[in-house]
Amino acid sequence: MIQIPKGCKDMLPADAYLWQAVEDTARESAKLYGFKEIRTPVFEHTELFLRGVGDTTDIVNKEMYTFLDKGGRSITLRPEGTAGVARAFVENGLQGGAMPFKAYYLISAFRYERPQAGRLREFHQFGAELYGAASPVADAEAILLASHFLRELGLEQYTTLRLNSIGCKSCRARYAEALRAYFRPHIGEMCEDCRERLEKNPMRILDCKNEGCKKFTSGAPSMLDYLCDDCRAHFDAVKSLLDTSGIGYTVDPRIVRGLDYYSRTVFEFTTDLIGAQATVLGGGRYDGLLEQMDAKPTPAVGFAAGIERLLLALQALDAPFAERLPDVYIAGMDATSRVRALSLAEQLRGAGLITECDLMDRSLKAQFKYADKLGVRFVVVLGEEELASGEAQVKHLSSSTAERVKFDEIAQYIKEYRRRK
Ligand code: ATP
Ligand code: MG
Repeated sequence: MIQIPKGCKDMLPADAYLWQAVEDTARESAKLYGFKEIRTPVFEHTELFLRGVGDTTDIVNKEMYTFLDKGGRSITLRPEGTAGVARAFVENGLQGGAMPFKAYYLISAFRYERPQAGRLREFHQFGAELYGAASPVADAEAILLASHFLRELGLEQYTTLRLNSIGCKSCRARYAEALRAYFRPHIGEMCEDCRERLEKNPMRILDCKNEGCKKFTSGAPSMLDYLCDDCRAHFDAVKSLLDTSGIGYTVDPRIVRGLDYYSRTVFEFTTDLIGAQATVLGGGRYDGLLEQMDAKPTPAVGFAAGIERLLLALQALDAPFAERLPDVYIAGMDATSRVRALSLAEQLRGAGLITECDLMDRSLKAQFKYADKLGVRFVVVLGEEELASGEAQVKHLSSSTAERVKFDEIAQYIKEYRRRK
C-alpha cells in the first residue's frame, strides 16, 4: 500500500473534535476583535515568496515546495500566509478601502523541513493580519487577540509571551555591524548557514537552531541597546499598553523571527508542554513588507499560530474540550422495526439530537453493545408491540432505568432530560 508522504499527517475522525475546537476558538476569537476571514490560493507565483518572505530566510533558501506547472510557470505551495494575504490586499484594491484592514486565516502551509515532533512538511496555521495602523495600539491589539485565543484554549498559564523589538532599517544597520564584529572571531566554529548569514543578515544567526551556534549567541549584543528614539518610543508604548491590559510578558532580545519582513515589534508565545519546537505562535510588525513587494507602503502587524503544536499542547493537558457524543440510539428488533427506526431517527435529528440506528443488521444484544461503545445516553427499542402502540421505552444507559414515551414526544423528552442534567 502506498504510504503518506514524509512529514504529513492524517487528521482522523476520532481527533476531529479537538481540531474543530481549536478552529472554532480561532474563528470566535478573531470575530470578537473584528477580524474577518480571508482565503487565498494554496499556491502562488514563486516570485511572491522570494519578495515577500525574503531571500535570506531558511524558508526561501531551503524549505519551499517549488515546481514548474504545465505552462512552465514557477509555482510554490505557500510556506506561510502573510505574503498571499498581502498580495490579495493590494490586488483587490483593499489598500484604498477603509483602514485598518483586519483579516484572519486558517490555512495549510508547506515547508520542506526535517520532520520531528511539532515540525511537519504540511502543517496548519491560524493567522491574523492588520494593515494600515502604524500605532503601537495595533501591535497591542494583535497581541491581545493572540493571547485571548490562547486563553480560550485553556493554554494561558502554560505559555509565555516573549517580546522584542528589532528596530527599523536604520537602527538595525548599526546593530548588524555590532553583531558582525561580535560573531566574526567565532564564525569559523559555527555552521555553514551562519557563515553565510554573517554578511547577508547577521541577525538571523540569533535564530539558529544549531546547538553548536547557540552557545555563541547567548553573549551577543542586544538590539534593544541599538534602537533609535522612534523605535524605542514605539517599543515602550507597546509594553505599557500590555501592562495596562494585564498581559504578562518577558522581554527577550534573542527573539528575531525567521522571516525577513519584520520591523520593530516581534513576539512569540512559547510553551514547556511540547518539547523542543516550543513556539506555538509568532508574530510582529512588518511595515516594510508591501514596499518590498513594490506596492504602496502600508504599516502592518500580525501573527500566525501553529495548529499542530497547539494540539500537542492540548493533548499534553487534560484537554478542556470534550467531544459531543451521540444522544440516542434507536434499536430495531426486526426488519420492520428497523425501517421505522430510520424514520424516527430522522425525526430526532430534525430536533437537533445526534441519533444513530442500526446499519449492520445486528442482533439486539449487539446493537446495545455498539450503542454503549458510541457513548450514547439513551436507547430506544422498537419492536412489533412498540410499532402497534406508537410508544417505546426510552432506556437511560447510565442508570439502567427506562420510561415509556410516545414516538412524537421522544425528542422533547430527551431534550428536557438533558436540560435538567
Ligand atoms: P520555527 O522557529 O519553529 O521554525 P518559524 O519561525 O519558522 O518557526 P513561523 O514562520 O513564524 O515559524 O510560523 C508561525 C508558527 O507556525 C510557528 O510558531 C509554529 O507554531 C508553526 N510552524 C512553523 N513551521 C512549522 C512546521 N514545519 N510544522 C509545524 N508547525 C510549524
Ligand atoms: Mg522554521
